[in-house]
Amino acid sequence: MMLKVMRKNERTAPLVCCNVCGSWIDDASLGAAVFAHLGFEDGDTQQVQLVHKGACHDTAEAQLRTKGAGVSWQELKRYLVDALHNSGVTIDTLREMQEDEEKFGRL
Ligand SMILES: [Zn+2]
Repeated sequence: MMLKVMRKNERTAPLVCCNVCGSWIDDASLGAAVFAHLGFEDGDTQQVQLVHKGACHDTAEAQLRTKGAGVSWQELKRYLVDALHNSGVTIDTLREMQEDEEKFGRL
């Protein structure tokens, strides 16, 4: 997962960036979370690559297949929402923070 921060109007703006091309994924519906197949035991984990759909997604899958892995993926929007949930970020927290986000607008 490639995470970056950008300076914007004297604020620090977190960005999710593509593991293949390095540029910002500015629309989560146009991104994917790509990973090798999980094993069959609860608790199995795999590293995830966050990528743009299309050519970057194809490249990430090809790299995993070269290593002999089967490949799975989720849409980035789904992955991020689930990851926030599993990190204890509730919908109430998101609602509380939305007011602050709207004050400064989107990048
Ligand atoms: Zn990319």
